[in-house]
Amino acid sequence: MLAKEKALKFLKTKMFLSIKIIKIILFLISLYPISSFANNLQMEEQAYKWLKTYIEIDTTNPPGNEIKAVNFYKNIFMKEGIKFNIAESAKNRSNIWARIKGGNKPAIILLQHTDVVPVDLNYWDTQPFKATEIDGHLHGRGALDMKGTGISHLASFIKLHKNKKNLNRDVIFLATADEEAGGFFGVGWLIDNHPEIFDNVGFVLNEGGSGRIVNNKLVFEIELTQKVPVWLKLIATGNPGHGSSPQSSSSVTKLIDALHFLKENPFPPRIIGSVDDYFTGLSDIVSSEHSSDYKNIKKIIKKDDFIKKLQARSPFHHSLTRDTCSITRLNASNKINVVPATAWAEIDCRILPDKKAEDFIKNITNIMKPFDVKVEKIMAFSSASSTTETTLYKTIKSSLEELYPDSFIIPRVTTGFTDSHFTRDLGIQSYGFNPIIIPLTEFRRIHGNNERINISAFKKSILDQYKIIEKFVYD
Ligand SMILES: [Zn+2]
Repeated sequence: MLAKEKALKFLKTKMFLSIKIIKIILFLISLYPISSFANNLQMEEQAYKWLKTYIEIDTTNPPGNEIKAVNFYKNIFMKEGIKFNIAESAKNRSNIWARIKGGNKPAIILLQHTDVVPVDLNYWDTQPFKATEIDGHLHGRGALDMKGTGISHLASFIKLHKNKKNLNRDVIFLATADEEAGGFFGVGWLIDNHPEIFDNVGFVLNEGGSGRIVNNKLVFEIELTQKVPVWLKLIATGNPGHGSSPQSSSSVTKLIDALHFLKENPFPPRIIGSVDDYFTGLSDIVSSEHSSDYKNIKKIIKKDDFIKKLQARSPFHHSLTRDTCSITRLNASNKINVVPATAWAEIDCRILPDKKAEDFIKNITNIMKPFDVKVEKIMAFSSASSTTETTLYKTIKSSLEELYPDSFIIPRVTTGFTDSHFTRDLGIQSYGFNPIIIPLTEFRRIHGNNERINISAFKKSILDQYKIIEKFVYD
């Protein structure tokens, strides 16, 4: 009897102790930094925490102050034991990169810019640099452009690092300054000053495409190329004089005539291959009344009334069909009764990427000659495109087909520009893509007011992005 009781007591104590030990182990696990990424939930939650901190770092460009974002990444890398490099292109304009070594296949860069565009506080309902949760959205400048994507790159990168499995290629995390002002203190500067980052790099994953819902259809757009900015100044000169005695011609009248000509879109439409592919992709998604026009865009574009209607309905789609110039800045006299000797305008031209900027400038210089208006180049990029015929494009596509079997996946041409033109110039296949699904209405908040990201869509994109990258870097 006594022995039985003793044994029971012993067993009870043992059970009690082992429960206590299990509790202690669980407690210790919970103390371990949550970025242990032991499961999907932890990865999502850690990424979301990072995003909230990152949004609160004010990297408005100008002036940029990207050093603050770089310090944020630096602290994470130090905690995780990841080696990194930092380079400053100008005071407080820092760039950071880190590399996980892998096999000999061409490396991939996960590229993000850390700066954001300025805000107009009068139109914001929340503090733009305070991560604020409202109705399932996280509000803050940069949530979509592109701190959300930046954190998604970080999460994938940290996860690859923690896995300690052999990669088939190097994976490079690169966070750069100044994209919002042209990238000349960021990627542009790094190419000249740290070319080693780009050695043996075959691929870049950057911003520029995502998932969206159009006419109740889920579509993913992977950006391959963009229109090329050619920013020009038009200058007219003439006799100055008094406003009370108008001359038959002056700097101002010459400029007005020239701009009037430009306003009428003198550039004939031409459908290049990538735009044709994009419209074919869109034909499955646009409403049925436009579907066949989009499918036959090459033919239908020649009808004069079509192109005007297209511009009225979708300025974005219209601008993919030709070179364009927007008249954005004007300057003439600084006094109402003085006819100035000089008047100028700045025009934002975007040309299709099958043409060289120099040829376009020559052409527009000739066009302006009869108006006695001179053309000066302010800025122009060179033109380059990526293709759908690469392993990265195919990996993105096949991953999306597995994740979202009913979705439409189309190669995108865009009218804006990102840092991808720098890397495309180096011959690196560069894709603008993040698998996050964003409702169409959210896009106008980018560079606008009350920018925000849907929290559950963000968390899902963290896992989806990792699935794509994982498929690409493990054999
Ligand atoms: Zn951006």
